[in-house]
Amino acid sequence: MTALPPSDKALVPFVSVENMMKLVHHIGIEEMLRGLADYIEADFRRWDLFDKTPRVASHSAEGVIELMPTSDGEVYGFKYVNGHPKNTKSGLQTVTAFGLLADVGNGYPVLLSEMTVLTALRTAATSALVARYLAPKGADTMAMIGAGAQSEFQSLAMKALAGLKSVRLYDIDPAATEKAARNLAGMGLEVVACTSPEESMEGAQIITTCTADKQYATILTDNMVGEGVHINAIGGDCPGKTELAPGVLHRSSIFVEYPEQTRIEGEIQQLAPDHPVTELWRVMAGEAPGRTDARQITLFDSVGFAIEDFSALRYIRDHIGGTDYYLELDLLADPDDPRDLFGMLQRAGN
Ligand code: NAD
Repeated sequence: MTALPPSDKALVPFVSVENMMKLVHHIGIEEMLRGLADYIEADFRRWDLFDKTPRVASHSAEGVIELMPTSDGEVYGFKYVNGHPKNTKSGLQTVTAFGLLADVGNGYPVLLSEMTVLTALRTAATSALVARYLAPKGADTMAMIGAGAQSEFQSLAMKALAGLKSVRLYDIDPAATEKAARNLAGMGLEVVACTSPEESMEGAQIITTCTADKQYATILTDNMVGEGVHINAIGGDCPGKTELAPGVLHRSSIFVEYPEQTRIEGEIQQLAPDHPVTELWRVMAGEAPGRTDARQITLFDSVGFAIEDFSALRYIRDHIGGTDYYLELDLLADPDDPRDLFGMLQRAGN
């Protein structure tokens, strides 16, 4: 980790998709997933310091566009992210994102970054970090339901952080299952391609649901889920977009990022507004228990919270120093006399 070299204050380091991919290969994906999880855990443990608000969502018939801001008082961050389940049919990503960090002291941005790849990494790192607290002891097999863009990241993070040895893939589209199986081959996991969700869950102690559909879907019905498993529910993250039958929720101990946001967007939108949930930061800070019983069903009702993106951007800021994996963007006007913005514009015309 090398600090960014001092540069012209008005030039903003920018990490493109191409450079993000180079950085991932430079660091190593599993090492980076572990590093991101460390940053996320450290920030969850100082939860009280952060400004927190449910993300600001703009819904349409086809999807959602969201802004996710937060600050720890010294650094401010936000992410722009979309969720459009039908996009893949026209060759576009379901989820794309970019984000920014700024210095609270003067308001100047200090990093602008792609966050489509980074979101997949941070979501996976969060899932695996949470599984370390909640999955049953010795869990080494995961059902991965939904084999889209996030799925390989989810699988590898569970390997890198939570001891996963075998992943059982299922997607409603066999081509997606095949794609994920191909991508994960030779990466140190046993990979089993399955033809039904039930088959994918055979022998699995961790069940990840990561599908995209803008409806109250029922990926897991009550009778599919046995005792003692950990459910990592990623795909239900919008009003009217869920993956689990209410019966599963009623049998589970539910853990969430930020209740005020999860009650709007997560699986628990299907439950009474006062249904008990545990905030994950409390578990990480040692203030609340994680799994307490081998027969308990634990559920991480993941929606993705701004602090995870802040942590991920912080990680990138701390790891691009000394590399060539960023450009300097002329994003901010920088007149010699700060009050002579107009004069700078006039001189540019000459
Ligand atoms: P994607 O479109 O690339 O993949 C989704 C996959 O789900 C597709 O392959 C599709 O065929 C499959 N699918 C749809 N219905 C299914 C069903 N009934 N059974 C099995 N498979 C089914 O999307 P993605 O980028 O992988 O994202 C997956 C979901 O995760 C999205 O809903 C997205 O909004 C959500 N997400 C959540 C977070 C978070 O922090 N919680 C972060 C990123 C993405």
